[in-house]
Amino acid sequence: MPEFRLYNTMTRTIEPFAPADGRTVRFYSCGPTVYNPAHLGNFRTFLFADLLRRTLQLRGWQVRQVMNLTDVDDKIIRRANEQGRKIREVTEPVTEIFLQDRDYLRIQPAEAYPKATDYIPQMIALVERLIAEGVAYKADDNSVYFAIDRFPGYGKLSRLDTREVKTGARVTQDDYSKENAQDFALWKAAKPEDEAVGAAWDSPWGRGRPGWHLECSAMAIDLLGETLDIHCGGIDLIFPHHEDEIAQSEAATGQTFARVWCHGAFLLTDGTKMAKRLGNVTTVKGMREAQISAAAVRHFVFNTHYRKELNLSEEALEASINAVRRVGDFADRLAEATGGTPELADAADAAVAAVEAALFDDLNAPNALAGLFTFITRANAELDRRGTDLGALERARAAFARINSVLDIVPDRAVDDPELAQWVEERLAARRAARQRRDFAAADAIRAELADRGVVIEDTPSGTKWKKAR
Ligand code: AMP
Ligand code: ZN
Repeated sequence: MPEFRLYNTMTRTIEPFAPADGRTVRFYSCGPTVYNPAHLGNFRTFLFADLLRRTLQLRGWQVRQVMNLTDVDDKIIRRANEQGRKIREVTEPVTEIFLQDRDYLRIQPAEAYPKATDYIPQMIALVERLIAEGVAYKADDNSVYFAIDRFPGYGKLSRLDTREVKTGARVTQDDYSKENAQDFALWKAAKPEDEAVGAAWDSPWGRGRPGWHLECSAMAIDLLGETLDIHCGGIDLIFPHHEDEIAQSEAATGQTFARVWCHGAFLLTDGTKMAKRLGNVTTVKGMREAQISAAAVRHFVFNTHYRKELNLSEEALEASINAVRRVGDFADRLAEATGGTPELADAADAAVAAVEAALFDDLNAPNALAGLFTFITRANAELDRRGTDLGALERARAAFARINSVLDIVPDRAVDDPELAQWVEERLAARRAARQRRDFAAADAIRAELADRGVVIEDTPSGTKWKKAR
């Protein structure tokens, strides 16, 4: 096995990586703020986490991944107040869409999706620990702040210039710029707007709610322990979010919070960051409705290295749609072939070696894709020769399956029938809901209903897959 190497934002270098216990990678990835359906920019980051997760598995490690759902924060509270609803009424339907989008994009489910509102006691305990350590204090506004000048490592991830740090000044909002590096809120005293939407809890400091940064520290430590192997997110999270997570976690535990920090670059549209507040967003739901196959989206995202910016354009998506069609045709051809040649086996071995070398070298997915397409060209030429070597054919099938276990870019034929696809998605959502409330009879009835229309489903670790029986 080649060495596995990963870029670590903390050291700004590519380093050899292995999980601390040699077996299981404890992996935390910052998840969505569920106030609005996630856009393709958010999903570029979640697909990067999927690529990392699957590559770690390819390398032979177990993965224990936790992705939080931020279901209480400034933006959610503002939205709930605008709509006259409780925060739960805002976040629950958005969470459901997130899970559908995740399944559609074939993102393997994490082992846990903790909701911030389920971890309030752990957050309060963490704040108490920080006060006891003398790095947090209650201010006269009844909020609790982290005193950044009491934590000597503050700024190490984002390489904050210490001159920029304003000692003693305070910031209450969750998101702020480097120029405003100052004491940040761990626990925010409840305002009438918070109480109105169900975003306030009892605490030793009175009614209040957690700050965004605190949520991730408390959930990560609770579910994965004091030192994570990998912590990842989008590049905009380096400051202040991850910087503040490090401060809170390390000041409380005295341990290194994450051994490696990984950050994915932005998805742009027409040269600007895709962001909800700019209005230039492409939702995944929209792509689903436009019947763009998930395989094409994955190809489009993986065809640029995760640390390089990626620009969304119609031409690039079109090219990806064509590329994955070729992959699908090749998959069919491999399935239907009756034999191969010794050269086919050689091509298969070379492809696996090339793809692994690329992925294990800081997740070089574009090179992995190049390795796959070289294989397709060579294998197609060999299959034209109509050989009879069964062992060689099996080698080629196994190689393709291994490569595709990470990339997962064979298009779904069923996408050709949009009405059917929409109906199936709707039935699958109903089945998921039935299974969640443990109503297995209803779930089985839905499976039978699907079968009546010739739709076969298969529950896999990466969600339910379906196809139209031929
Ligand atoms: P949010 O829902 O805003 O908390 O963001 C969820 C994730 O999406 C975070 O890891 C962000 O860094 C990431 N993200 C937000 N905008 C983009 C973008 N345009 N491109 C890539 N990742 C993004
Ligand atoms: Zn986070």
